[in-house]
Amino acid sequence: MKHRLFTQLLCVFLAVILLSVGVSYSLIYFHMRASRIEARVETLKSQANDVAWLAGNLLQEESLLRFGSDSVLREALYQKTGQIYSQYNAFTVIMTRSGRLYSYYSESALQDESLQHIPSAEELAGYMTRALQGEEIAVQTSSSSGPLFTVILPWTHVSVRTGSSTVMGIVMIQTAAQNIRATYSDLIWQLGIGALCVLMAAVALTFFLTRRLTKPLTAMEQAASALAQGDFTARAPEDNTSREIRSLAAAFNRMAGQLDGMEQSRRDFVANVSHELRSPVTSIQGFAQGILDGTVKEEDRAKYLSVIVDETHRLSRLIANLLNLSRMENDQVALALSDFDVNELVRRVLIARISAIEEKNLEIEPDFEAETCPVRADREQIQQVILNLLDNAVKYTPEGGKIRITTVTRGDTVYLTVRDNGIGILPEDAEHIFDRFYKADKAHTVGKGTGLGLAICKIIMEKHGQSIRLVSGQGGCEFEITLKKSELRLPEKAADSSEEA
Ligand code: ADP
Repeated sequence: MKHRLFTQLLCVFLAVILLSVGVSYSLIYFHMRASRIEARVETLKSQANDVAWLAGNLLQEESLLRFGSDSVLREALYQKTGQIYSQYNAFTVIMTRSGRLYSYYSESALQDESLQHIPSAEELAGYMTRALQGEEIAVQTSSSSGPLFTVILPWTHVSVRTGSSTVMGIVMIQTAAQNIRATYSDLIWQLGIGALCVLMAAVALTFFLTRRLTKPLTAMEQAASALAQGDFTARAPEDNTSREIRSLAAAFNRMAGQLDGMEQSRRDFVANVSHELRSPVTSIQGFAQGILDGTVKEEDRAKYLSVIVDETHRLSRLIANLLNLSRMENDQVALALSDFDVNELVRRVLIARISAIEEKNLEIEPDFEAETCPVRADREQIQQVILNLLDNAVKYTPEGGKIRITTVTRGDTVYLTVRDNGIGILPEDAEHIFDRFYKADKAHTVGKGTGLGLAICKIIMEKHGQSIRLVSGQGGCEFEITLKKSELRLPEKAADSSEEA
């Protein structure tokens, strides 16, 4: 069964609260009960003390024996024991050393049979021995009518002549144990009401706290649902007092921000592609139409046809670049790593572009640290990177300019740079040139490229775990790529392992 987090937390908290209130309630209850019983026993003891004092000071064994005689002293004892009965529902027994028992109680006490349990002779003898040693005894005994609570004290007689005190016997006050229990039965209610109040306050607090805890999560869940439905502006509130929830919300919002950015760049991409496709298609359509309907004069036809051919080249370049980019991004192109001489690769790329270089009368200056420079990479992809960099250098360098290509090895890394003394890149454009479709300095580069070359280079280098950067855009451009140095020693003249592949 699936429950809401709120319900689950609430149940857990409530269970914990119930348990702790129950445990505290029991502990307090037992503690208070024990102290109440103790207080009650103390009261009975003090009553027994009074009786013992009366018995010791006002009576002698003989006068106790003269049960029938009229005595003020005996009357006082009657009254005391009667008062003990009426106040504490307790029955008083006085016992002499010789074992005689005397019970003093009011008439009503006489009728209360449950209290008139006289312990056995053995028990009495035991109590007597202990009491003669001056011990005060409080015991729970059982009788036919149920458990009894008995307090036993010695009573002594102080001789008027000698002033010496002699233990004459014991005073026992016994009461039904339920009388003692009755003193704490109200506790259950008093504590119960207290516990209920605590419980209610705790439940209210728990409800409030649980809501506080789950509310930001619910807000986050709503934001996530909104994101899933395409609302990329949805964000989770970050104003929670809990540090963990705040950082969770911040992480969620960062993710939402990135998704938003990706969505934005997807839209930009579509817009850019449409724009880039539209302009060559429009001019091809216009010129072809003009040639068809005779608007373009006979002598201009060749000129416009060559424009059409240029535009179709541009279109196919754009489409090839787009395909390249999409394949790379979709991880469809796995790296085919091999060991090859990157210097040789540079020479081949230069040969491939020789006509464009000669057309602009550019001076090429290869500057290799060593004759061969073995690297481990995907040869075809690195060739694509060098081609893109060289094409840019050729495109953006005026006639008679100079292009310098260097390779140096430092530790495990090979650094390859392509430098030209062309138009350069403004600092404000520098950070964007690796973005798709970004074309710096629109006035100079209009119609020259697709804005995808460097973006493709960047993806290729990232896939290799290497980097590409613009070292300098002042007084021409210098781009640098890094490559992993090959551990293999390549054969002297062999260009690369996949030669003629
Ligand atoms: P493009 O196909 O437009 O050349 P790139 O991604 O290769 O696209 O380059 C992006 C932009 O960076 C270019 O439009 C150009 O403005 C600038 N750029 C690239 N290389 C050079 C360079 N060697 N000299 C001057 N500007 C350059």
